[in-house]
Amino acid sequence: MDGRPVGFTTTIPVEVLLAAGRVPVDLNNIFISDPECAGLVSRAELEGYPRNCCGWIKGLYATVLDKGMDEIIAVTQGDCSQTHAMMETLQDSGVRVFPFAYPHNRDADLLREQIQRLIDRFGTSWQRAESVKEQLVPLRRQLAELDRLTWEENRVSGFDNHYYLVSATDFCSDVEGFAAEVAKVLHDSRSRTLQEGRARIGIIGVPPIITDFYDVLDRLGARVVFNEMQRQFSMIPYLDCGLLEQYQRYTYPYDVFARIEDINREVERRNIDGIIHYVQTFCFRQIQGMLIKRDVSVPVLEIEGDKPAPMDARNRLRVEAFMETLEARARGSAG
Ligand code: SF4
Repeated sequence: MDGRPVGFTTTIPVEVLLAAGRVPVDLNNIFISDPECAGLVSRAELEGYPRNCCGWIKGLYATVLDKGMDEIIAVTQGDCSQTHAMMETLQDSGVRVFPFAYPHNRDADLLREQIQRLIDRFGTSWQRAESVKEQLVPLRRQLAELDRLTWEENRVSGFDNHYYLVSATDFCSDVEGFAAEVAKVLHDSRSRTLQEGRARIGIIGVPPIITDFYDVLDRLGARVVFNEMQRQFSMIPYLDCGLLEQYQRYTYPYDVFARIEDINREVERRNIDGIIHYVQTFCFRQIQGMLIKRDVSVPVLEIEGDKPAPMDARNRLRVEAFMETLEARARGSAG
């Protein structure tokens, strides 16, 4: 139990780090919550990162150096190839980088091998990691309740839903403190009801780099009742299985088809009118947008963001027009 922080580039089996007594740090979360997040992207560019490289990658690179982190886990399969190059530039700066790969076909043996490597690297055991998974169930149940209060009772905002679910990748590096915060939010939420909004919206895709994304949506009357990736990151759909199965059923690192099934199931369950698909400039996942638009059962609007900044006027206008379309559609089906 040495309590030293370990950064990671996207969700990894965090239970292993906790079982080893290490402090998990999701680099995405500390990058985007840094008041100087735009400056971090500029720092990466000044150091030579190309303009046509994903803003998250640049931000993660500069965050590791800015925070003086000396050890990270880089997800080399199940995220993107830009992570490989980022990993090399960090290694060159003296950061110890341990790769973790989600097997593309969800092969159980290959995934078990990857988790075992992580277990060996951090000096713990399957048994301890499984027991941490069980210990986290009550907290994950609280998060599932927060999610339910968002879509079923209209008591939790789209932003709070996003924030608490996405924060469950590393529990803000303090499991007990985070659990206390979630308990308080649940308590406060039960005594209030939010406005219905003009339409019920689901957000899919990687978490937006646009700094006022949820505020703008809220002001335009979009009632966000589903955050696809954040819900996946929180692992709340996988409370009933063991560690291996949890990371095998988790959709983010695998093919788009399981994601589309999950999205359509939630569209139905949450009575969603339209989907906003957030895409990151220069991200390969933009290609999957063509399948998403074709196969998701409600209208889809794609919004693209590049660097940490407020939403631009063009995107605001497009969201506004989308809301009008959804309202007209609802009136049409009511009449
Ligand atoms: S947003 Fe896309 S390009 Fe950027 S780090 Fe994530 S997967 Fe890679």
